[in-house]
Amino acid sequence: MQLTDTLSNTRKPLLPPVGEDGVVRMYVCGITPYSEAHLGHALHAIVFDTLRRYLDWRRIPVRHIQNFTDIDDKLIERSNRLGIPMSELAEHNIQHYLAQLAALNVLPAHEYPRVTRVIPEIVRFIQGLIEKGFAYPSGGDVYYRVRAFGAERYGALARRDIDELRAGARVDPSEQKDDPLDFALWKAARPGEPSWESPWGPGRPGWHIECSAMALVTLGEQIDIHGGGMDLIFPHHTNEIAQTEAYTGKPPFARIWMHNALLQFGSEKMSKSIGNLVSIDEALQRYGADALRLFVITSHYRSPVTYSEEALEAAKAGAERLRHAATIAGGTAPAHIDHESARARFTEAMDDDLNTPRALAALFDLARDINRAAASGGDVAAAQATLRELSSVLGLTLQAPQARSLAAAPFIDLLVEIRAELRAARQWALADRIRDRLAALGIELQDSPDGTTWSER
Ligand code: ZN
Repeated sequence: MQLTDTLSNTRKPLLPPVGEDGVVRMYVCGITPYSEAHLGHALHAIVFDTLRRYLDWRRIPVRHIQNFTDIDDKLIERSNRLGIPMSELAEHNIQHYLAQLAALNVLPAHEYPRVTRVIPEIVRFIQGLIEKGFAYPSGGDVYYRVRAFGAERYGALARRDIDELRAGARVDPSEQKDDPLDFALWKAARPGEPSWESPWGPGRPGWHIECSAMALVTLGEQIDIHGGGMDLIFPHHTNEIAQTEAYTGKPPFARIWMHNALLQFGSEKMSKSIGNLVSIDEALQRYGADALRLFVITSHYRSPVTYSEEALEAAKAGAERLRHAATIAGGTAPAHIDHESARARFTEAMDDDLNTPRALAALFDLARDINRAAASGGDVAAAQATLRELSSVLGLTLQAPQARSLAAAPFIDLLVEIRAELRAARQWALADRIRDRLAALGIELQDSPDGTTWSER
């Protein structure tokens, strides 16, 4: 299998992995849980889940890490405004997001590190950079010295000239940096902000150092795939390379930098108004997980996907077409469906930089052949098994949404019962969590004086 590496701008073979254990180490930058996740976050999750599922199917061992940035300016600002602790706000949004991922049929990462749980490791990392001459304390902050890393090397991932980057760098008057390009590794505590003790006084880590530290803690000094949206190339991933390679002295930090194109909403203006309105819950309710996944993977991950109701309706119809072919009753007459060649086409496409549009074309051709054979009484069972297998590699369940919730009905009843007991015991937070997670799965609870009923949205 080959994947496009942003740093070298070439296709690179995924195998063999950098580790002697043969495990593909994959770190994907996760969300900052300051508000509810939106459709753009779903796209990102689906892209990397598709890769993860494909590696699982090919029996290529993979360790998939996705972090939560649970310290951040926006989180602090919002928690102060709402009057709830930052940790509580982050926890609430993280649980909601995890429920949404489950509803999107995204496999859980093997680990979800959080910044607040690796502060000592971050402090050690920064100390190491200072000792090696790549960082310096200044007025309670600590900054990374970009010049020490080398101008050319620093600008390589973003393919930008360092003078151009320097000219565009904004300097906050409160920051005492030697060079406008230097960036904060540690920020001195300000009033009203959560802070941790450090050799440089109380403060909190900068954003970029967090991912370097979490990747080091969970996967080691070198990894195979570092993933994220294209918007993270500069400065976030540029700074991650500078930090980690300076600290470990072992380039490359990541063998393959894999970046997905972002969800587009037409014009820039629309992106601001609609982008935040299209919630994952709402899209799941209207189209279902299979359609949302199809909407995303109909484009190659490096090509932008543009949001439109028509595109989502088309994806819904496509999901229905696959589901129909997977469940249509055939006959007993021998049918000649070359489902093994469909499997070969699928594999070849996925090996080719995760070319999901071509992989899907193989599936739709197979679905057409199944429908034709079934119509003339052919035995389609084996071909249907292949269709279901390959669909599941793409995370498609091919189940009608109703069938799933009917099977789940006794379990939903049980959760509603437990929630009633929690409410009686005034355990509001837990009770709300049950309601929110069911909502993310498309189950709406209605409370009334007579008790709680539920319905599928
Ligand atoms: Zn990151």
